Amino acid sequence: MIIGTLGSHSALQILHGAKKEGFQTAVVADKKREDFYRNFSFIDNILSYDSLDNAVIQINKMKDNGILIPHGSLVEYLGKERVDKIQTKIFGNRKIFEWEADQKKKMELLRKSHIKIPEIFERVEDVDRLVIVKLNGAKGGKGYFLAKNKSEVKEGISNLINSKMIKSEEEVIIQEFVIGVPMYFQFFYSYMLNRTEIFGIDIRYETNIDGLRRLPYNYIKETNPSPTFVVVGNIPAVARESLLPVALEYANNFVKTTKELVPPGIIGPFCLESIVTDNMDIVVFEFSGRIVAGTNLYVNGSPYSWLYWDEPMSMGRRIAREIKIANEKDKLNLVVS
Ligand code: ATP
Repeated sequence: MIIGTLGSHSALQILHGAKKEGFQTAVVADKKREDFYRNFSFIDNILSYDSLDNAVIQINKMKDNGILIPHGSLVEYLGKERVDKIQTKIFGNRKIFEWEADQKKKMELLRKSHIKIPEIFERVEDVDRLVIVKLNGAKGGKGYFLAKNKSEVKEGISNLINSKMIKSEEEVIIQEFVIGVPMYFQFFYSYMLNRTEIFGIDIRYETNIDGLRRLPYNYIKETNPSPTFVVVGNIPAVARESLLPVALEYANNFVKTTKELVPPGIIGPFCLESIVTDNMDIVVFEFSGRIVAGTNLYVNGSPYSWLYWDEPMSMGRRIAREIKIANEKDKLNLVVS
């Protein structure tokens, strides 16, 4: 059996983990990245493509003996229509992609899971506090801006339209800006072991917002730079242990809700992207229904994955382990779609 993935995002970690679990591995990579992926001995096959349509053809070469592991770049690069043409089995529940891409459905899922979320403003007219305006999909924070009132929201939206980043106001999401610190809680729901494992925590390292605190106040006052949220890396974190029961309760509720709304529910990795406030509330502003790039920090296991496995267990390896367990029990069809 081959485990394959698209050459980007967390591909190295996924394939490294698959190899550790004894699988053949394949990366479906842009021709320009072929040489890069050749550097890694745990990659057995490189299926290169020169167009996105061709990428789907390459992925489908694994349809008889392979499993594709989805990650944040899969839908973002290929687009929904191409992903629908993938005949190779995909690890997890592919119906989750749709929920993740639709902001309304996404928030409904969190709400139904009794997870605290920020106030959402459907109309610019309703904005009555500091907000963050975001674009749909995993855009790595590009184009996001902060606004103190309606007129700043309107101005920012017209700038986005003028710079052709969006076509209309409908493409933005306006959320209350929650003050606190970010913590992205990574989980793995094991269908085979029927448990949710807390896998790791990361913080996204974003330019320029994370750089602004290095600027002395005088310079901020004089130059008045606007914060931006472009993701360039990830930083590891551990939480106060007293936060973990709430985080895990949220995660378990999330799993349960996905079983009801998107059967058979989430399978494998997911992430609750949160802000922790000074009264220790965990406010979740976003979820990812697949492996997040923040797990790349833990190729050798995380402080939490050690507690479950007592061996170096990356998220990539955990996925491969789940596939292995399912295969041994002759239940592979329960963890792929
Ligand atoms: P992506 O969608 O690309 O995976 P992401 O999951 O990191 O990005 P985004 O929703 O894109 O999260 O948010 C980008 C940045 O904005 C992060 O620094 C996050 O902490 C911050 N942020 C997002 N929503 C809120 C909010 N409601 N309150 C406070 N900060 C927020």
